[in-house]
Amino acid sequence: MTTNPLLAAALEAVATASALTRAVQSQRDEVANHTKDDRSPVTVADYAAQAVVAMIIQDRCGDAKDHLIVGEEQAADLRGAEHTPVRQAVVEAVRTWRPTATEDDVMAAIDACDHDGTAEAYWTLDPVDGTKGFLRGQQYAIALGHIKGGVVQLGVLGCPNLPIDPAQTPAEPDPKGCGSLYAAMLGAGAWEFPEADPAETPLRISRPAWTPGQPVRTCASVEKGHSNRSDTDELLERIGADADPVRLDSQAKYAVLARGQADAYLRLPTRKDYVEKIWDHAAGSLVATEAGAIVTDVRGAPLDFGRGPRLEGNAGVIAAAPGLHERLVEASVSMGLAPA
Ligand code: AMP
Ligand code: MG
Repeated sequence: MTTNPLLAAALEAVATASALTRAVQSQRDEVANHTKDDRSPVTVADYAAQAVVAMIIQDRCGDAKDHLIVGEEQAADLRGAEHTPVRQAVVEAVRTWRPTATEDDVMAAIDACDHDGTAEAYWTLDPVDGTKGFLRGQQYAIALGHIKGGVVQLGVLGCPNLPIDPAQTPAEPDPKGCGSLYAAMLGAGAWEFPEADPAETPLRISRPAWTPGQPVRTCASVEKGHSNRSDTDELLERIGADADPVRLDSQAKYAVLARGQADAYLRLPTRKDYVEKIWDHAAGSLVATEAGAIVTDVRGAPLDFGRGPRLEGNAGVIAAAPGLHERLVEASVSMGLAPA
């Protein structure tokens, strides 16, 4: 599967960024102390991961048209004297991987992720998805997807704290400290890497359909503001499911669905005017669909990645196993969940 050069580049980029963010997360008290800012650990990890991913994509992909990235972060927010301690911490973090990197190299790499999503093909990157989870020492993800012609073609998801062992609860950080790594290619499948090491032989993952009578295991956001909890309760009640969702941050939820540890990932809109971002769904949704899940919005429409940096044509997400997905969408439509 790694004979595809873009996938090989994406795997190296995400695995490297995962290792880097894990190091920052483990030192988060120290980072917060020396930058005098409680949110700086996630800021440092975000920017350093975005820089490293951009540098690896530029190094590994020969053609400049393969360097376009719609990234979540802007280097402008790091410039200015008041940001010097955080900026220096970002450069220091990048140098643990590439000792020769200068501040200008790092800032230029972060800036390079400013594509607006108008080209025929581009990457989309969330360098630290699930920032709240990162700060709590729980789940977060490094998510890199490649979109061409409005369709996600490949996705790589690094989940540095997600235990690969399905016997462990996905809500808690991996006690072994390995995390997990996923890749998917459109029409070709989804894979998990043992020990989260891209050099290992990947294991194909596929999730079975859900059949009536089975329990319904769901997952959803930890953050109340990201997915509507009362609508989720009602939706589950309507389909006769009584268990509460497992709560975890980031696109690790798509991975948990893909590998069959949950039967559905529910992200029900909390307000009419929120439009989901492509970097929050590109990589994860492909991992889930290539493993055999169905991913749509709350109306049952496919996620439309052809409308720039946001999913302008969609509302919320219902991702689930075949057999269960249609029931959930039917219940969602009957509840009128999709804002007009
Ligand atoms: P999660 O970790 O699944 O809760 O999702 C994290 C992502 O939620 C962040 O990357 C944000 O882009 C996104 N987000 C922020 N506000 C909202 C909102 N009101 N509804 C849905 N997602 C949101
Ligand atoms: Mg995000």
